[in-house]
Amino acid sequence: MLKKIPRFFSSESQFQALHHKLKLLNCPFCRVTGCLNLHGFLYSYDNKPRGRRIFCSNRNKRKGCGRSFSILLAWLLKNFRLTALDLWTFISGLINGLSKQASWIKTGLSISQSFLYCLSRRLKTNVPYIRTKLLGVAPSFLQETFILLKNSSLKNNPIWWFQEHFQDDFLKHRPKALVF
Ligand SMILES: [Zn+2]
Repeated sequence: MLKKIPRFFSSESQFQALHHKLKLLNCPFCRVTGCLNLHGFLYSYDNKPRGRRIFCSNRNKRKGCGRSFSILLAWLLKNFRLTALDLWTFISGLINGLSKQASWIKTGLSISQSFLYCLSRRLKTNVPYIRTKLLGVAPSFLQETFILLKNSSLKNNPIWWFQEHFQDDFLKHRPKALVF
């Protein structure tokens, strides 16, 4: 059976296990199986390893597409210098009611207002995506969302409050394949 190659790994042993079954995985671009080869390390700007490069071989009459891609260490964030640990420190500050600035100071990283603004916007943009993913693993998440709604509401009926406060429909979106 064809198997998708993971995009992230957490440890060297996890990577070695992946390396051993590389020939059984299919290329994310051309879907061909049996042509993936290890293609060295992926380095960050300061020369620290960030992951591995994988090459889909088209050499020696192999059927691959000749493209290469990366699999990343799961504690790093693609295209960001800050790590998952830094980001979680920042988010934890926000959860605890600190301001963005105070939450960022907790990371111990130098502060830039423009970066902080971009990061906050990036987080906000990804909230619906993260929530949808989480719903799959934590059914109680739906319940937690409604508890959050109840706690935020200033009225006895939180749905009434929601529509009045946000001036928006409560059941705004329809599931994609279910139109009625
Ligand atoms: Zn390929």
